[in-house]
Amino acid sequence: MRSITTFDIQYAHRFYNFKGEAQYLHGHTGTLTIEVEDTINCGVNMVFPCNEIKKIAWHILQNFDHALILRQDDPLLPAILGVYEAQGIRNGVPTNTMKGPAFKTELATAHPDCRLVVTKETMTAEGMIKIVHHLLKDQLNIVKLTFRSGDNTASECYQVSESRDRCPCCGILMGADGVCPKCGCRKK
Ligand SMILES: [Zn+2]
Ligand SMILES: [Zn+2]
Repeated sequence: MRSITTFDIQYAHRFYNFKGEAQYLHGHTGTLTIEVEDTINCGVNMVFPCNEIKKIAWHILQNFDHALILRQDDPLLPAILGVYEAQGIRNGVPTNTMKGPAFKTELATAHPDCRLVVTKETMTAEGMIKIVHHLLKDQLNIVKLTFRSGDNTASECYQVSESRDRCPCCGILMGADGVCPKCGCRKK
């Protein structure tokens, strides 16, 4: 069965060099849907707790929220950084607290201090799905990702072969030692 969790992400971007209106800087509320598949964990009668999916995914994804997402070769990038630098906000301010860990993958680099994500490819809905899958595939049994921004939606399905060991008391992933890292339950 599947657990399906959605997230709203507010962001600004543009399609650099795209021959259309999207080449101008603009913003969206994007909705990401993560579908996690596994057996039903009998103890808690769920595939995976929604709160736990939210926690695991949002830890990383908050870097995209209220962020500017630009392609690495976009000339807006040095221009924006120059303005942030001159304003003294490039390296963060105390009120910018909604920060996940800085990350760097082959597809994207997050700079949480200035709420910027630099991408290798244009950040379309399809591009976002590739980035998110890369970031979360080792932590969740993701079988489908859907990203909707405005009228446009993209989705991709994935194969997941193995079932994950989850705590029978609270449903989260068991530690390698067979003990739940959250409630201390031991696998029988
Ligand atoms: Zn757009
Ligand atoms: Zn537990």
